[in-house]
Amino acid sequence: MLTGRFAPSPSGRMHLGNVFSALLAWLSVRSRNGRMLLRIEDLDPDRCRLEYIETLKRDLDWLGLDWDAEQTPQSKRADAYHAEFERLRAFGLVYPCYCSRAELHAASAPHASDGNVIYAGTCRTLTDAERAAKTRKPAWRVIVPNTVITVQDGLQGEYTENLVQDCGDFIIRRSDGVYAYQLAVVIDDGLTGITEVVRGMDLLSSTPRQIYLYHCLGLPVPEFYHIPLLINEHGQRLSKRDQALDLGELRQRWSAPELIGKLAWMTGLRDDFEPVTARELIGEFAWSKVRREPIV
Ligand code: GLU
Repeated sequence: MLTGRFAPSPSGRMHLGNVFSALLAWLSVRSRNGRMLLRIEDLDPDRCRLEYIETLKRDLDWLGLDWDAEQTPQSKRADAYHAEFERLRAFGLVYPCYCSRAELHAASAPHASDGNVIYAGTCRTLTDAERAAKTRKPAWRVIVPNTVITVQDGLQGEYTENLVQDCGDFIIRRSDGVYAYQLAVVIDDGLTGITEVVRGMDLLSSTPRQIYLYHCLGLPVPEFYHIPLLINEHGQRLSKRDQALDLGELRQRWSAPELIGKLAWMTGLRDDFEPVTARELIGEFAWSKVRREPIV
């Protein structure tokens, strides 16, 4: 069955960009009689707060975006992540990395597209004795293959990366024991039968890494739709720090149909701006109408 998800991180109030992702994920599912799941991505204990979760649900409610079931929040799924981590380790694909941030920067080439650093593999070949001599708590990396991975994105078309050249062995568990988003999202989507992932364009470059993990773990790869980012007039992407565009502010100035009508118009779903409910858009939704470029 077609199954989509909202996967918000409760690290602040939803902003316009999050509303846009939620709206398109919901329309894509509802227009094809699929199932919608809500999953709270609260992996990072330093950034996520309980109070944001309730607000988030109330905001989705206000927008008229409903869900059929709620998955266990990521903060309570460490056992599931651990089991898959151990499986990767048993395949010989995982090793501890003791590099400090400074060492990483010194030893790596900057990533061409997004400024990330490419891990040079420094800790991959350490001997047992060298590992035993380390005092720092390690992060854990997965070894990547020297092959091209292609994403067939439902909106953006084909996107390819060679993981060795474009990212290097990447972290799946942080040194504080928290499992990395890249691993958690694959396990959650893969084990719960998610068939389509709709999310912001900023995550397109994570997708080859995730597809690689799907393959390693033998999990079914969902379809992907990476939607354009909303940017301000200076070309910067909206973030939870832009409070003028978070729902706390927006709800004071707009009704839900006004906000949805505005988004529908900005993104190409409608030719003109007029108030409309999310439900009223279901019948006319088509991915072919959605713009691909960033939206100011
Ligand atoms: N939790 C992420 C966010 O709120 C979304 C991750 C995803 O959709 O894969 O930006």
